[in-house]
Amino acid sequence: MGIVKVYNKGYDPGTGIGELLHTTSVRHAFGMIRRGVADPVELMLAPDDRIVPTALELTRELSGAWVEGGGQRSVGFSFRAVHERDHWTCAYCGRSVSKSPAIEALLATVDHIMPVSRGGESSWLNLVSACKECNNRKADRTPEEAGMALRFEPYDPAVAYRVGGHVELIPVAG
Ligand SMILES: [Zn+2]
Repeated sequence: MGIVKVYNKGYDPGTGIGELLHTTSVRHAFGMIRRGVADPVELMLAPDDRIVPTALELTRELSGAWVEGGGQRSVGFSFRAVHERDHWTCAYCGRSVSKSPAIEALLATVDHIMPVSRGGESSWLNLVSACKECNNRKADRTPEEAGMALRFEPYDPAVAYRVGGHVELIPVAG
């Protein structure tokens, strides 16, 4: 797994001068690009012939309070933080979930990927955002048993940045 540098907005590719915030994995770098959080500013050819980013620049400048202290900020674990990490999106059907949805089926719940009844823990890697409908359908089964594929992999966020109006959770590689 490669390491990708994440620079604040304002990185100068000509001189390589910029505000390095932290590093992340290639997989999460692609996720940030997809979500429009960052643009690639340096690329390389990987051994498997894929072109992968080695440096990203955030598309919006981080506010000072979040950058202070080297940009590092621990994210406290909570069910709400799981929803923030997953952008309030159901990991199974991809629909938006919320605490007070117009449709009851879209109520935000957290799903234990490995059910609690089978020893699953309440942890970053075992929880995903899910709508009430999918959560009920999955019940006490694993995604494989239920035939319900995860649309994204849960991860353990280590750093949070406020990007525009929302909190962007950016995992540190490692
Ligand atoms: Zn769903």
